[in-house]
Amino acid sequence: MAESETLQGLAARVLAAGEEAAAVLALPERHWIDGAWQAPAAGRSLESWDPGSGRAYARFAAGDAADVSEAVASAREGFRRWSATAPAERGRVLQRAAELLRAEAARFAVAESLDCGKPLGEAAGDVRGAARAFEYYAGACDKLQGETIPLGRDYLAYTLIEPVGVTAHVIPWNYPISTAARGLAPALAAGCSVVAKPAEQTPMTALLLAELLQRAGLPDGVCNVVTGTGAEAGAPLVADPAVRHVTFTGSVETGRTVMAAAARSIASVTLELGGKSPVVVLADCDREAALEGVMGAIWENAGQICSAGSRLVVERGLHDGFLEELVRRTRALSLGHGLRDPQVGPISSPAQLARIRGYVEAAKARGVAVATGGETTVDPETGAGWFFQPTILDALEPSDPCVQEEIFGPVLSVQVAEDAAHALALANGTDYGLVAGIYTRDVDRALALARDLDCGQVYVNEYFAGGIETPFGGNRLSGFGREKGLDGLRAYCKVKSVAARIRAS
Ligand code: NAD
Repeated sequence: MAESETLQGLAARVLAAGEEAAAVLALPERHWIDGAWQAPAAGRSLESWDPGSGRAYARFAAGDAADVSEAVASAREGFRRWSATAPAERGRVLQRAAELLRAEAARFAVAESLDCGKPLGEAAGDVRGAARAFEYYAGACDKLQGETIPLGRDYLAYTLIEPVGVTAHVIPWNYPISTAARGLAPALAAGCSVVAKPAEQTPMTALLLAELLQRAGLPDGVCNVVTGTGAEAGAPLVADPAVRHVTFTGSVETGRTVMAAAARSIASVTLELGGKSPVVVLADCDREAALEGVMGAIWENAGQICSAGSRLVVERGLHDGFLEELVRRTRALSLGHGLRDPQVGPISSPAQLARIRGYVEAAKARGVAVATGGETTVDPETGAGWFFQPTILDALEPSDPCVQEEIFGPVLSVQVAEDAAHALALANGTDYGLVAGIYTRDVDRALALARDLDCGQVYVNEYFAGGIETPFGGNRLSGFGREKGLDGLRAYCKVKSVAARIRAS
């Protein structure tokens, strides 16, 4: 694979390769432990599936407690080396990682698109975002400084910012490289070591990233990746007493289990557990900006996004015309294999497809109005793959399961609001609190809504505005702790205060 090969060129070659796709991309089949590829202790492997064709295309290591134990031991050694590395040098390593990721972006993006199904252009954006995360936190390594504390002239008191130690990162299947980067980069910047466990649906790019980090100069053992299922590899990792912080992104149910496991060793946790995020569209909005925003908020990655704008809360006066235009644009979206870069890609797994279908079928049985979509489908070019039509459910009651529960697919639930106050009540009316979007031209109303929305992040007049600089995380069932931004470093740091008495006069 030539490094200069274009994204589209490599994607076409991989598509044409069929069963040889993994070989074209030189995808790994082993864990990454202590700076080397390592076969699983039990010698077992699992299949990795291409959601766009519905075919298995590669194998990867099925890790278990023995592999995890080895990875954690390696991370303990790695921590000793890395925490003793000068902060400026840590920064240089992370900066080189960002540069390498940009240089090798095509391989990462094609592997990501193939492994999780997402359109190639989105995967390329995720890789750019991952490079940006390493660049951002590279600049923070030598700025984690403490404070002096005024106790009076006979004392010197100060704080030291120290890395927490070995950190575990349990990564979901919807944004594998993004989620890995937004956890690993701040952990490494703080001086922590890492054991990452990518989702069993999408193990590839975390492995590629670990190997790239070594080429960027990361010492052996500082970053380890164990692949396998949640039960066999994830559970022993989050329960390992040497792990001092767990960063988990995934479902509420698994989040509870992870938190309980970490509690045994009093390890801290960051939980990012998804949402049911509203996009509030008021009658005085810029209609075109709102239409574009709502479309991007729900159809990107076929709605498999923790922060998807999966609820449209629209003011009654705007509802009919807005919905009509939304339906028209939604029906025009292209569907297909991620590597052909359609507007909407497949669903990650048959289990997730069944879950989405279950929600929509139950809604139909309740008499919910389906404005468009509503059925499973296939790649129109090949007749294969795991797809669900972009679907809009109209005029839902606040208590409807499609309003209250995370579907995690291309399903937009529409709620009609009488005015801004009603829109706020509807927007806050679920147990989740991850993000919210607001579309209005009235600055006062926008700022009042931003103040009163119960969530971790608010987007005004551009859904998904912001980047690695803006802290991200949830309230209530959406979890706690913040990733991204300088706040994202806190989970990986502990504060020590030192107070000394000066006895000389
Ligand atoms: P999950 O929460 O079970 O899996 C997420 C990660 O946790 C995977 O890496 C998995 O291997 C790991 N895991 C599973 N059990 C574990 C355990 N006991 N200990 C440690 N790690 C464990 O999610 P899922 O089953 O893949 O998807 C189910 C639903 O979760 C989806 O329909 C969606 O609603 C939600 N989800 C949310 C996000 C998000 O970004 N917040 C991501 C993926 C899935």
